[in-house]
Amino acid sequence: MIPTQFDYKAPATLDEAVALLASDLDGAKVLAGGHSLIPAMKLRLAQPQLLVDIARIKSLSYIREEGDQILIGATTTHYQLESSDLLKQICPLLPECAKSIGDVQVRNKGTIGGSIAHSDPAGDWPAAVLALDADLVLVGPNGERTEKAEDFFVDLLTTNLLPGEILREIRIKKPSGRFGHAYQKVPHPASGFAVVGIAVNLTLNNDGSCKSAGIGVTGVDVKAYRATLVETALAGTSLDDNAIAAAVSHICDGVDPNSDLYASGEYRCHLATVHTRRAIQAAKARVQ
Ligand SMILES: Cc1cc2nc3c(=O)[nH]c(=O)nc-3n(C[C@H](O)[C@H](O)[C@H](O)COP(=O)(O)OP(=O)(O)OC[C@H]3O[C@@H](n4cnc5c(N)ncnc54)[C@H](O)[C@@H]3O)c2cc1C
Repeated sequence: MIPTQFDYKAPATLDEAVALLASDLDGAKVLAGGHSLIPAMKLRLAQPQLLVDIARIKSLSYIREEGDQILIGATTTHYQLESSDLLKQICPLLPECAKSIGDVQVRNKGTIGGSIAHSDPAGDWPAAVLALDADLVLVGPNGERTEKAEDFFVDLLTTNLLPGEILREIRIKKPSGRFGHAYQKVPHPASGFAVVGIAVNLTLNNDGSCKSAGIGVTGVDVKAYRATLVETALAGTSLDDNAIAAAVSHICDGVDPNSDLYASGEYRCHLATVHTRRAIQAAKARVQ
């Protein structure tokens, strides 16, 4: 199918993009890598009247350190994150997550901001930014605001983005101390999307016990979520097999898991339990 007719603008600055979106709050849509939006338009699930292409705004693509934070511009591609030497050193969860996404074409065009804004229930980035307790910087007709990733994902393909807002930047506190990361994913064999994806950001005390755990889950519910019950159950334990097994038994508590032709809800929760355990063990083994 071909999309319905639409207009296309490629602004050179973020201010211009915000103004264009504000000129048609109901009909205008941000275009970034186009790897979720264009398929939706071809199926006519999305019928924007105006596409505002932000992928050509150079100032929106970067990965840098500032103080104790890592700043990532919204149009940074999956491949840029996968291949960043800086991130491999200071926040290896991000390149590990990036390299699990789709195929080479998808990783070269798709953007982290597009993935987070789209909030696909099987998207990988939402799990990673939840585990890392990221802040999202949003800019719109009423100025700029910051929202916690934890509050951002609301429902299926639905976020707290207000009409006319653009996700501008992802801010992550640089992991410090004795930390270890892991991303475990069961990819759908056709698309590569996560049937289940588990991101773990673990910090240990000097005696090897768990200081804190950040755990983001994708693929299981209608939206990615933070497994706070598992995080709380892990804190203070020695992270031995029994403690991990007891904690991960809560991975689907309060969740009504997705069921489809490929995986029932019950099977998804089984996968989530197994892969959360594996991700915690892998993160623990990587602690420096
Ligand atoms: C074959 C295939 C396989 C894939 N496999 C995977 C996979 O394994 N894992 C995975 O996570 N994803 C996968 N994807 C999706 C891919 O990662 C997309 O790139 C991503 O979901 C959306 O990013 P985008 O930059 O392409 O956004 P677009 O498609 O341009 O936009 C998506 C939505 O977000 C909005 N948007 C985009 N950027 C912003 C912004 N900065 N601020 C506000 N709104 C914005 C758009 O208006 C649109 O509604 C796959 C896609 C394809 C086609």
